[in-house]
Amino acid sequence: MQLGARSALHDDRVAALLTALASAPLKREPDLDWAGLYSSGIQCSPYVGPVEARLLEGRGLGLVTSRPVQAGELLLLEEAWATSRSCGAASSAALPELTEACMQKLASAQINEQALFWSLHGQASASGTKAWQNPQLRLAIFQKYLCQMNDGSEGTDVKLPALPDRQLRNSVTSIVASNSRRSETWNSLTLLLDETQALGGLWFAASLFNHSCCANVTLSYGWSKDRRIILVARAAVDLAQDEELMDTYVYPFETVVERRRRLQTYGFCCSCNRCSVEAPLAAEAGKLADLLEVELQSLSALRGRGGKASEMTEVVGRIRKALNKVCTTAQQLSPSEQPLWRAQFVWGFHGLAMAAQDAGIFQQAVEAFQTCTDLAALIAPSSEYELKYHMMLTQCRARQALSTPPRSLAKDTATVLKEGLRRAEEAHNRHYGGGGRHFLSRMQKRLQDFHAALRHCATR
Ligand SMILES: [Zn+2]
Repeated sequence: MQLGARSALHDDRVAALLTALASAPLKREPDLDWAGLYSSGIQCSPYVGPVEARLLEGRGLGLVTSRPVQAGELLLLEEAWATSRSCGAASSAALPELTEACMQKLASAQINEQALFWSLHGQASASGTKAWQNPQLRLAIFQKYLCQMNDGSEGTDVKLPALPDRQLRNSVTSIVASNSRRSETWNSLTLLLDETQALGGLWFAASLFNHSCCANVTLSYGWSKDRRIILVARAAVDLAQDEELMDTYVYPFETVVERRRRLQTYGFCCSCNRCSVEAPLAAEAGKLADLLEVELQSLSALRGRGGKASEMTEVVGRIRKALNKVCTTAQQLSPSEQPLWRAQFVWGFHGLAMAAQDAGIFQQAVEAFQTCTDLAALIAPSSEYELKYHMMLTQCRARQALSTPPRSLAKDTATVLKEGLRRAEEAHNRHYGGGGRHFLSRMQKRLQDFHAALRHCATR
């Protein structure tokens, strides 16, 4: 069977495609796609796309686009300079491990690598590192590095100050705390973040992405053929030339108070658009989050002991009531600000969707998953979160269709299901690249439900 470049999901041959996948070799985006990242490993050459380092008014050093960029376009491919030792360690253990790894690397690193390290931003500058905080110097060092990553050339020479003592542990710790990241691996079947695979790492160029609670880049992580960890950054949305590229350093669906508390590790208080919208109603948000949390705990207790459908329906009602308060509070804001504000409660809508699905109230579940999908697309566009909610929404619709007798199905059910799949596939491509067949390959198990539902629609 010939598999064209066009999206596989635009036609009805889902079943045939699923069969064909087992034997067909995957066509690769040059050495870089989901299949490469997560199975055999990629042959990694560093890559810098349409990206430049610049000094930004009031924000220090950052990365900007050097031309207009389309959502999903590859921006950066970079191998970690150092990583923590144990996979799945909690952040509290990963940071000291990564600090130790950096101390060891510094002991034998070339001068240009040491220069990159010392010119990273740290919260506290110990004596001996102050000269390295000069903005023009940092800019020159990173411009040279990006140039080397791009074409392997040496770039313009930079006059460096004296190197600090490599044993300045406090300064190393401070730089690691402000610049390290935890890699993310998402389980294809559960669509959950697999914390057992997480590693702390330091990536020089990616350290220049400043933070926003509404990111416009999306990051994923994979392994090179020789088992080194690679960061892949893509544009999360369409971008104009000279736009600053920003990543979210913390879990995006918490309240402004919680996000700002976590950001203290990085030594700043976020005042992005989203934080500015949320801050005046922070106290109300905290109370609503507590209220919702109580209802979700009773949901999880009920699921744990396999409660009756009638009990589940009751829990659905209580979560619904708590979320109605969220929506009423949001009405104090302008219509454009309301979704930004509601995004801190995505987890509540998720809980409602799960409870309603368990109770067999599919229409409410579909509406709640739709809210999760819209909010995730708004504040974490092209992220795994967006992809996950597209999949959960469409899967819920498939279950709704399967629970309805064929004769009573709405006429457009098959069209709606396919549209949902198309959107999930687009989100997958923006996050991972690689095209429709990679989406099919990754989501194979989950797609069985859709296949059954589409067949069910065909018998009406
Ligand atoms: Zn913010």
